[in-house]
Amino acid sequence: MDLAFTAEELAFRDEVRTWLEEHRPREQRPHDRKGIREFDTAWQRTQYEGGWAGIAWPTEYGGRGLPLVQALIWFEEYGRLGLPGIDACFVGLSHAGPTLIERASEAQKEYHLPRILEGKVVWCQGFSEPEAGSDLAALQTRAVIDGDQLVVTGQKIWTSYADVADWQELLVRTDRDAPKHKGITWVICDMSSPGIDVRPIRTMDGEEEFCEVFYNEVRIPLANVVGEINHGWSVAMSTLSFERGTAFTVNQVRLATVVEELIDLAKQRTSPDGRRPWIQDDEMARRLATVRAEVAAMRAMTYAGISRSMRHGSPGPEGSIIKLYYSDLAQEVYRLAFDLVGDDGIEFVSRWVKGGWSGGYLFSHAASIGGGTSEIQRNIIGERVLGLPR
Ligand SMILES: Cc1cc2nc3c(=O)[nH]c(=O)nc-3n(C[C@H](O)[C@H](O)[C@H](O)COP(=O)(O)OP(=O)(O)OC[C@H]3O[C@@H](n4cnc5c(N)ncnc54)[C@H](O)[C@@H]3O)c2cc1C
Repeated sequence: MDLAFTAEELAFRDEVRTWLEEHRPREQRPHDRKGIREFDTAWQRTQYEGGWAGIAWPTEYGGRGLPLVQALIWFEEYGRLGLPGIDACFVGLSHAGPTLIERASEAQKEYHLPRILEGKVVWCQGFSEPEAGSDLAALQTRAVIDGDQLVVTGQKIWTSYADVADWQELLVRTDRDAPKHKGITWVICDMSSPGIDVRPIRTMDGEEEFCEVFYNEVRIPLANVVGEINHGWSVAMSTLSFERGTAFTVNQVRLATVVEELIDLAKQRTSPDGRRPWIQDDEMARRLATVRAEVAAMRAMTYAGISRSMRHGSPGPEGSIIKLYYSDLAQEVYRLAFDLVGDDGIEFVSRWVKGGWSGGYLFSHAASIGGGTSEIQRNIIGERVLGLPR
């Protein structure tokens, strides 16, 4: 395995860095939901116009068709500069779009993919339900076929950005008598359809990023089904493997930046005994060195994962290892931040702002739940990576 970047990749990194430094948004990301949507989609449009949208997407669907390693370089430079995430565009770019590329009809691809890349639309993910999170196949939102439409009734929960979304990747039960994995359909839902009621949920970090979504006889054209009726489970597995794959790279790089900020902070702050900079305290130095080494280990795992994905075409279950490792590490890093800033961390500062330790700490708890909990990642690693018995 060659761990060094080629001259061509290094030149690409310079090009990315220069472009990002010139075009990065200068203003703060707003706090209101409409403002967030406008900000994120405008930044995505800027990237598209600059030729940076869909770096690893095939050229026939508007991407650059570059190898995944180039996408990794993009994410690394993006995270290094601490740029705002394009969170409202995340589902479209990171898992709905890639799922459509792999599984959708040509007509579906032709309509949706350019809109995602151009930042014209926001997508959300309607998978989880009140009684179906980890056990996703237990979902009960039902859809019956009526002519050339599906009629959907039920409820989803924890749907990030549903309040500002145009489209949704929606899982519905189309056969109630079949074994639970066999009666599910993956369908594209227009969020402006009559019968959809979206109710935001406020989380402990003060944000309202996710919602409950209620469906009361919502009509969706059968033409919006991706794959086949009742065969949506395997489409959903593609979506989840993309969700747990390279999409997390920006978060990982951001975490590396946070660790370096903490090391600077430990040089500036005095230890609790008031006698020396905190970095000179053996225990603090040990903890900082450990998280720095762990961030480096995570980076090595990401490189190995990308190298495997490039050989096999799609991300495999190994993404679960990185996701699990990231979740534990993010929580450790923010605990450390809190120990360092002490009472100064009590006042709430959003994670979107530099020095937002409290917001970052609260949000780090979401890492071990969203995209599948840490326990579920451990099950996947045990069963699908290590081949252990169920
Ligand atoms: C920030 C964030 C964003 C999210 N965005 C979305 C979104 O956009 N769309 C969407 O559909 N969902 C979204 N979710 C929901 C997320 O996918 C679910 O919360 C997650 O899958 C867990 O499901 P649950 O909350 O129902 O918990 P449960 O499944 O009820 O789990 C409760 C506890 O039991 C444990 N547990 C359950 N089953 C097992 C098992 N077999 N073995 C061991 N332990 C087990 C779990 O690990 C957990 O600790 C989001 C969640 C977060 C935190």
